[in-house]
Amino acid sequence: MEHLPALKRKLLQQGVDVIDIGPGDADFPPPEVAVEALARAARDPAMSRYAFQIGLPKFRESAAAYMLRRFGVTLDPMKELLPLLGSKEGLAHLAMAILNPGDVALVPEPGYAVYHGGTVLADAEPYLYPLTPRTSFLVELEELPPDIVKRMRLVFLNYPNNPTAAVAPREYLERTVAFCRRHDIVLAYDNPYCELTYDGYVAPSIFEIPDATDVAIEFHSFSKSFCMTGWRLAWAAGRADLIAAMSRVKNYADTGPFLAVQAAGAAVLERAEELAGGYAARFRERRDAMVPALTAQGFECDTPRATMYLWLPLPDGMPSAAFQQRALEEVGVVTLPGSAFGKGAEGFVRLALTVAVPRLLEAAERLGRVLATV
Ligand code: PMP
Repeated sequence: MEHLPALKRKLLQQGVDVIDIGPGDADFPPPEVAVEALARAARDPAMSRYAFQIGLPKFRESAAAYMLRRFGVTLDPMKELLPLLGSKEGLAHLAMAILNPGDVALVPEPGYAVYHGGTVLADAEPYLYPLTPRTSFLVELEELPPDIVKRMRLVFLNYPNNPTAAVAPREYLERTVAFCRRHDIVLAYDNPYCELTYDGYVAPSIFEIPDATDVAIEFHSFSKSFCMTGWRLAWAAGRADLIAAMSRVKNYADTGPFLAVQAAGAAVLERAEELAGGYAARFRERRDAMVPALTAQGFECDTPRATMYLWLPLPDGMPSAAFQQRALEEVGVVTLPGSAFGKGAEGFVRLALTVAVPRLLEAAERLGRVLATV
């Protein structure tokens, strides 16, 4: 995956009309209120000082207020919340904070690469669980071998899911939390897509589930809900001892997000539902154009209820990396192969709704040409 930006640049230099629907990085501008608040805050010299882990109290308070308003969850902004430089570092640092050699962490495959990476960096053992249509792309913890469960200290879960776009029913979350409580396992609930939902589906916080506060730590991000990937701003919420452990590790590695960015984040969170709802409506328009266009080209394409992704099965036996390469070299479309998310995701390709409808339709037509010559 690392070499993709370089390859794309090479093609662009050669004059190829590249359509990039690979990374989950949409072309929508960030909210105006974020830009204005950042500009204002940048002029305040106090904002140029170290943030440290405590960060901007106003940011913590705005995040706690959003969690209360949106999910009915009450959090102590100073003890049960932590500003992050994007949820990526938070996920990696959580693994380093709580895992020891010999511990096992459950890593869904396909899944966001940091679950695996963080576990390995912590010298612990990733246990890969395949997300397949058999379980509706859910991790069924009851299926795990008892000797693995005994050593399991951490479970990474992400619903709405990248890359499969699956969502988790409440009943599923209830039994998952109960399992983690029974076996004293920390549940890292990665929730960056909770606002990108469609057709009346509303994604919950894990803390809406009874007793989740005993076991869970949840990650929220500005990257997807507010199209602010490059700003590097997110937060973790949950058990005070887990937050403290993360904060301790981060203290050795970073000094917190730029205070002016935290001020912008606070301004966004005050209008979070309205702003995220605007982006979600635009992603839904793209989804509603792209799904029928891909189906018309012969792809099998479900209509996702959340996220900005389409997770397409490829024809039997077609390696996803080969499809990706042909899509890129023959028709100039950047996609992400299932294999980039782990061996268990072979046979699928991920498309992201990150460009305007006419370009998506053009991409569907081009990908159809690749499919037709398999
Ligand atoms: N979790 C998931 C499931 C993601 O897809 C991403 C970004 N692609 C992240 C976490 C990281 O987001 P960020 O670091 O930008 O907050």
